[in-house]
Amino acid sequence: MNQASILPERHGAEAAPYPVEPIRAQFPILGQKVRGRPLAYLDNAATTQVPTAVMDAVREYQSTIRANIHRGVHTLSQESTEAFERARGALARFIGLGEEHGLVFTSGTTEALNTVAHGLSAGDGVPASLGPGDEIVVTGLEHHANLIPWQRAARRSGATLRVLAADAEGRVHLDELAALLGPRTRVFAMTACANATGYRPPYETMLRMASEAGALTVLDAAQAVSHETMDLASLDCDFMAFSSHKMYGPMGIGALAGRLAALERLSPLRLGGDMVDWVTLEDAAYAPLPSRLEGGTQNVEGAVGMAEAARFIEGIGRPRIDAHVRRLRARAASGLARIDGVRVLNPDSTDSAIVAFLARGVHPHDIGTLLDERGIAVRTGHHCAMPLIERLGGEPTTRASFAAYNTEEEADRLVEAVAAALKVLA
Ligand code: PMP
Repeated sequence: MNQASILPERHGAEAAPYPVEPIRAQFPILGQKVRGRPLAYLDNAATTQVPTAVMDAVREYQSTIRANIHRGVHTLSQESTEAFERARGALARFIGLGEEHGLVFTSGTTEALNTVAHGLSAGDGVPASLGPGDEIVVTGLEHHANLIPWQRAARRSGATLRVLAADAEGRVHLDELAALLGPRTRVFAMTACANATGYRPPYETMLRMASEAGALTVLDAAQAVSHETMDLASLDCDFMAFSSHKMYGPMGIGALAGRLAALERLSPLRLGGDMVDWVTLEDAAYAPLPSRLEGGTQNVEGAVGMAEAARFIEGIGRPRIDAHVRRLRARAASGLARIDGVRVLNPDSTDSAIVAFLARGVHPHDIGTLLDERGIAVRTGHHCAMPLIERLGGEPTTRASFAAYNTEEEADRLVEAVAAALKVLA
């Protein structure tokens, strides 16, 4: 039983104190000491931790019904198939899919985005959606997973890759997008939150603008689904990608959700078992969705765990988690900004779980190492977003990111530890 589900519901949630201790109690790993100090896990934008309900769901699946899906007449295979499809249904509800939508499992956001970029440019078995003269627009905020696949798609298809550049503060602007969009724009791909800075672009409006211009729209929701309520049916979004391991679920599983009519346009990335209707020595016909995009043995236990993770999030309520992580981000950002020599990126952002900063003359790896000595886990470097980091001056950063189980005390520990580290290092 997911303990979170006994927590107060969303209604009146803002008035009730946020139940961080009962939430923490569901995460065994958080009780650990690291280097003799209580762990303050602030690397949630990279990967969140997993509650016992998710571990139990995976263990239950593995202990009772594990078998390969779709291909067996035996009971376990059928039960396993049902568990997989129930997980699909739970995740579809979690992100507000309508009748006209579908969801395919992938190994994560990276594979989901590759599935789209490959699928629109390969043209193998499905007419390619991209060709010479077409334009693909991406933003300058993207994680490499939402950039490199589009670079290849452009090279392969002869389309042109155009970039909605970030400004010197790492933001993107509607008027600049309007100037980029045109009759040649076939695809617009953007993130719901820049993982390197925590900036949340106005993606709802941008997706609508691109959709109105006739483009297929792609949303990288990796940094959003764990706390922002995503309702795909109300977004002008053809494809949305997200990862389980950033939403309290297992690693190695994620999803590509989208409009069925758009998913139909994708040439499959993975060819092989389970994704075909018939095969001869010369040719094959692809199966209908979702199987067509789910070639090979699926990560069924991952899907089961991911669906349980969605239930965990819903048990607390995304508006409450969102308010909580935003509060922690604001607290950490204002504390860090007061430290001499620290520059917080996006200092006033109020709608994010991520805070990244630069410290004059000090390498972030050194800061990260000293924080680790105090049991504080943060991430340092370019965060797989080298073009954005280049745009902001080229310096690697230190990034702390918050989740449902983090506390104000941890945000304060971060600030104190950074101040202490800079005294040593500066
Ligand atoms: N996009 C964004 C915005 C991300 O933060 C990440 C993970 N850091 C990814 C894509 C890639 O996700 P995954 O590694 O789970 O495929």
